Amino acid sequence: MKIAIIGAGLAGLSCAITLEKHGLEVDVFEKRGMSGDRFMNAEAMFSMTQHPVTDGVKFLSETYGIHLKPSSSIQRLQNYSKNEKSQLDGQLGFIFMRGKHPESLESQLVSQWKGQIQYRQDVSYDDIAKEYTHVVIATGDARDTKKLQPYDVAFKATFRGAVVEGDFDQTEAHAFFNNDFAPKGMAYLLPHSDSKASLVLVYPQYHENERLDKEELWEMCYQECCRRLDQDLKIISNFSLKDYMIGKAEHSRIGNTFFIGNCWGAITPAFGFGQFESMLTGIYAAEDIAGKGDYEELTKHLSQGYHDSLTLRRGLEKLDNQKLDLLTKSISNKFAEELITSKNINLFKIIGRALHPFSRKA
Ligand SMILES: Cc1cc2nc3c(=O)[nH]c(=O)nc-3n(C[C@H](O)[C@H](O)[C@H](O)COP(=O)(O)OP(=O)(O)OC[C@H]3O[C@@H](n4cnc5c(N)ncnc54)[C@H](O)[C@@H]3O)c2cc1C
Repeated sequence: MKIAIIGAGLAGLSCAITLEKHGLEVDVFEKRGMSGDRFMNAEAMFSMTQHPVTDGVKFLSETYGIHLKPSSSIQRLQNYSKNEKSQLDGQLGFIFMRGKHPESLESQLVSQWKGQIQYRQDVSYDDIAKEYTHVVIATGDARDTKKLQPYDVAFKATFRGAVVEGDFDQTEAHAFFNNDFAPKGMAYLLPHSDSKASLVLVYPQYHENERLDKEELWEMCYQECCRRLDQDLKIISNFSLKDYMIGKAEHSRIGNTFFIGNCWGAITPAFGFGQFESMLTGIYAAEDIAGKGDYEELTKHLSQGYHDSLTLRRGLEKLDNQKLDLLTKSISNKFAEELITSKNINLFKIIGRALHPFSRKA
C-alpha cells in the first residue's frame, strides 16, 4: 500500500495522524511553505452545530487521540439583528486560531504527526495517481473535486474581514444577522485575545448580491460592530476572499481515491462551520484505509448534517430584517436558550425543517 495525501490542512493532517496511529506510512504534499501559511483569523467550533457531540475537543481527544488546545472557550454568544439583540450563555464551544499564528490549529496538528510534510509541492491528482495505490484529496478546494466527480455547489461565498484591536472578553463571541450589510449571510467577531479579534463578513454570491459593493457592505458592517460593542475598533490587517465554494461531493470515495475536508463537503452551509467536520472526514478516511471502517458509512451522519444545515440555510435566506428581528427576539428568553444549548435536541435540524417545508434527506 502506498498512500499520498494532497494538502496539509485540517483534514489532511487529521488523516495523516490517524494513519500513523494505525501503523501506516503516508506521503503528505503541501503547496505552501508551511502548514497554515495564510492570513491569520479566529474560527469558532460551536457545540450546538455538532449534535450529538457536546464537546468537540474532548471528543477528538478521547475518541481519536487528537489533542487540541483552543485559544479560548465561548461562554456567551451575543446575537444582533437590525433592531434587536439577544444572548446565549453556557459552554457554547471554542475559538481556534488559524493561519499564521504559533498556536494555530494547523500547527497543533503538525506537531502530532511524526512524518515530514513535503512543502512547496503544488501537486495534481494526475501527478500522484500513477505512483500511489491510495490518494487522499484534501486541498480545501472543491474545484479539485469537481475535476473528478459531480460536486453539488450550494453557493459560492465572499468573505471580507480584518483583525481589529479593541477591548474584548475572550469568552464572548458576537454574531450579526442583518441583510443591510450581510445579505443572506452574516458577520461575526471572534476574539484572539483581550485586545485583538477577527471581524468577518460572509455572504453568498447570488446574482442579486453580485451587484452590491463589497467595500460598502464591509464599511457598514464595521460601523455596526463598533456601534454594538461601543468601541472605536482599530483595523490592523485586512483580508478578502471570493468564490469560496460550499457544497457536497456526490461520492466520498471513488475506488482508492478519497475526498476529505472541503473536498468532500465538510462545510455546513447554514453558518459555514467546517473545522470539526473536516477533521472527522480525515480521520474516517484513514480508518477505512487502515481496514477499520467504511468511509461511506462513517460519513453518513455528516452527510445528513450537511443536508439539514442546507435546509436551515434555505429557510433563513427567506427572512427579511423584520423576521430576523423576530427570530433574534425569540432567542432572548430562558426557554429558547435552553432549547438551543440542549445536549439532547438537534434544534437546528428542527428549525430548518420548520422554516423550509421541502426538506431534503441525505
Ligand atoms: C475566512 C474563513 C472563516 C472560516 N470560519 C470558520 C469558523 O469560524 N468555524 C469553522 O468551523 N469553520 C470555518 N471555516 C471553514 C474551515 O476553515 C474549513 O472547513 C476547513 O479549514 C477545511 O479544512 P480542509 O482541510 O478541507 O482545508 P484547509 O484547511 O484549507 O487545507 C487545505 C490545504 O491544502 C493545501 N493545498 C491546496 N492545493 C494543494 C495542492 N494542489 N497541492 C498541495 N497542497 C495543496 C492548502 O495550501 C492547504 O494547506 C472558515 C473558512 C474561511 C475561509
